[in-house]
This record gives sequence, C-alpha cells and structure tokens, in this order.
Amino acid sequence: MAEGVSVDCEYKNDGCCDENIVYETLELHYDTCMYHRVQCCPIDGCEEMISMNRKGELQEHIENVHKVMVIDECGEKETVLRKGMRVGKMNASNQHNMGWSLVQYQKQMFIVVSKQSNEMFSVTVTGLGKQNGFGKFFAEMRMKDKNNKLCTWKEEVHTSEERYHAKMKKETCTSYMKIHTKDIIRNFTTNGDDGQSKINFEIIISQCTK
Ligand SMILES: [Zn+2]
Ligand SMILES: [Zn+2]
Repeated sequence: MAEGVSVDCEYKNDGCCDENIVYETLELHYDTCMYHRVQCCPIDGCEEMISMNRKGELQEHIENVHKVMVIDECGEKETVLRKGMRVGKMNASNQHNMGWSLVQYQKQMFIVVSKQSNEMFSVTVTGLGKQNGFGKFFAEMRMKDKNNKLCTWKEEVHTSEERYHAKMKKETCTSYMKIHTKDIIRNFTTNGDDGQSKINFEIIISQCTK
C-alpha cells in the first residue's frame, strides 16, 4: 500500500470509532484498540478470540468458559498454591493430563497450568494482562523427591501478552518449569488410596521488588 494511505480500523463494525488511521501505524493502533481480539488464552487448544486491551476480559473468559474459580491466596511476600495431580502413562484417547488454577496475588491475576504427557510434566505460570505496568514476578515449583529432598525450579513470570507475541513470532517462550515424565515417575510419585500414581507440588509466586 502507498505511503500515507489511511484506513479505518478493521473493528469499525464492532464499535471502534478510529477512522483514517495512517496505514503504517495500524499495528500501533491494535496495541490499544479495545476491539482487537486475538487468540491469547493460555490454556492449550483454546482458540477463542479475546481482547487483551479490555481489562478483565481474559479472566472473565477463563472463569466462564474453562470454569475456573479464583483462589485468593494473597500472602504478604509470596503466595503458595498446593496442588496434586494424577500422573502416569497416557493412552491414545487422552494425550495429556491437564489442570489449571487462577490465583490472585498483589492485585494481579495469574493462571497456573500444569500438564503431563508421556514425555513431559510442566507447569506454566502466566500473568493475565498487558506487559506494561504488570510488574515483575517470579514463579517457583517445589516438589519433594522419594528421599524427601526438596527440589525447586524457578523462573520469571511472563504475561499473556508476551506469550501471545512470542507465539505470533513462532518463538517458544521457553520459560516453563518442566521435568521428564520418566523422572517424575521414578523420583516424585506417591501411590494414592485408589492405587493411582500421584504427585504433589507447590507453586510459589513472589514479587521482585528491585
Ligand atoms: Zn480499533
Ligand atoms: Zn480459553
């Protein structure tokens, strides 16, 4: 398109009143346009189009569509989420075990997604919202092995906006805490009352104050 050509926002029919946007600045407009919807849900396989610019829309979607209740575990310095999960070999019909929780901490919302396939067990903590002004947080996974030794994995929390942009650029946000399933089964499982292998782990979210 020729330089200086202006267009209306693609979401005009949805209600966006921004007209005559210089074509070159369209991407910039979509960064703030309330009607710009993208596939930003952090739950695997979800393709719903959600506005990242309308505060609370992603949270609302997760609560309503994925039926997740918010857990308010806001401690002063950190918040701790204790979770248990059945683990084991998957069959063809269930490709992975998955669980998720919404946690509120320091006025921000986080979704914790745990997943186990035949290859990997992983936990991803995602801050719901825009990168700008979200704050810097760390997530840590703690698990005790069969000798009762505490093992930890720690990383910086990424926001849903960051993860979405990484996905668009076909980059992997390699920031998740993961262990090979065979190591999980060898070192971390306990047998539940029902005879199923289980793991217990804690996710700690803390704010980086520096
Ligand atoms: Zn717009
Ligand atoms: Zn979703």
